[in-house]
Amino acid sequence: MIGITVVFLGLYLWFTTFPGRPAGDAYRYFTEGDIVSARAYASASRMVSAINFSVELSFLIWFTMGTAGRYLSDWCEKVAGRYTLSILLYFFILWVILRIINLPFSLYSGYFLQKQWGFSTQTLMSWWMDYIKSAALDLVLSATGVILLFFAVNRWPGTWHITAWAFISLWLVVQTFLWPILVEPLFNKFEAAKDPQIIAMVKELADKAGIPVNQVLIMDASRRTTKANAYFTGIGRIKRIVLYDTLLKDYPEDEVRAVIAHEMGHWRQGHIVKGLLESSLGILIMLLILHTFMKIDIHFNGSYPPYLWAYLTLFFVLASYIANPIYNYESRRMETEADRISVMLTEDPNSVIKLQVDLAKRNLSDMSPPLFIEWFAYTHPSTMHRIEMVEKIKPPSE
Ligand SMILES: [Zn+2]
Repeated sequence: MIGITVVFLGLYLWFTTFPGRPAGDAYRYFTEGDIVSARAYASASRMVSAINFSVELSFLIWFTMGTAGRYLSDWCEKVAGRYTLSILLYFFILWVILRIINLPFSLYSGYFLQKQWGFSTQTLMSWWMDYIKSAALDLVLSATGVILLFFAVNRWPGTWHITAWAFISLWLVVQTFLWPILVEPLFNKFEAAKDPQIIAMVKELADKAGIPVNQVLIMDASRRTTKANAYFTGIGRIKRIVLYDTLLKDYPEDEVRAVIAHEMGHWRQGHIVKGLLESSLGILIMLLILHTFMKIDIHFNGSYPPYLWAYLTLFFVLASYIANPIYNYESRRMETEADRISVMLTEDPNSVIKLQVDLAKRNLSDMSPPLFIEWFAYTHPSTMHRIEMVEKIKPPSE
C-alpha cells in the first residue's frame, strides 16, 4: 500500500510541477490571462496539499513502522493505569501531533492563499474560530469512534470488522440526515429563498423533473469567500438545495437556473442514496483487507495495545489515498449525469455552458488540468470536459 501511495504521490507532484499546456479548446472560452492565473492558483493549492500529505505520511510511517509508536503505547499503558484511559491518551497524543503537522498547511491554504488571491472575506480571527469549532467536533466524534472500535476488536476479534461495517454504514446514514440540520448551522446561516423569481424557477424545474419541491436555502457563504457554489443534501423527506448567496449576487438569472437544474439532476437520479450504498461497499472492502492485515501484523492476547490506533490511522490514510481515483471517478460520473439533466430541464445548453465559464473564471478553476490530476483528484469533471459534454448534446451556436 505504501508503494502504490508513493507512486500516486510522485505522479501528483510531477504533474503539479510540470502541468503541460491546457487543451487548445480552452482558448475558445478563456483568455490567456484567465488560463495563466487559474494555473498559478491551482499549482499553489496542489503543491501545498501534496507537501502536506508527504509530511503527514512520512511521520506516520516513521511512527508506526518504527519503534516510537510502540514505545508510546507501552508508556500510555503504564501511565494511564486503566485500559480505556490508555487508549484515549494514546489517541489524544497522536491526534495533537497530526493537528500540529497539518495546521501550517491548513492555515496557508485556507487563509493566506485565499487572501492572496482575493477570495477570502474572513478575518484571521474568524478563521481560527472555524478551525477550533471543527477541531473540537472532530476530537469528540473521533474519540467516541476509537472507544467503540477498541471495544469491538477486543470483544469480537474474529468478526469485529462486520460489526464495524454495519455501524459505520449506519453512521453514514445518520450523518447524511443530521449533518445539515445540526452541524452546518454551527458554521453558516441558512435562510429559505424568498425571492419570488427563484421560487418560481424552482417550481418550474421541479415540475418538469417530476420531483416534489422541498427546500431551497440560501447560505451566507459571503462571510468567508467570494467563490460561488451550490450543493444538494438530505435524504428521505429532507431534501435541500443550498445556494451560496455569492451565486445569487454575482451570477445572472439563467445561470442560477442552470445551477438549480443541475442540483435537481442529483436529486432525480437518487445520487445521495447511491453514494451511500457505494461508500458502504467501499468501507466493507477496506475493512476486509484491514482484518486480514491485522491478523498477520498484530499480536492479540486478550486485548489490543493502544498501538493498534497508530496502525489503523496509517492504514486508513493509505487506503483512502489509494481509493481516491475510484471514489472520484464515480463522483464525476454522477456530476456528468446531473449536467446532462440540467441541459434537459433548462432546454438551454448555452446557459449551462455560460455558467461553467463564469464559475471557472470567478473561482479560478483550472479549466483543463493534466489528465492524471483530474483522474486522481477531481470530484467534478474539469470545466472543459463539462463544456465538451454539453456541446456534444447540442453543437455550440456561433
Ligand atoms: Zn453536482
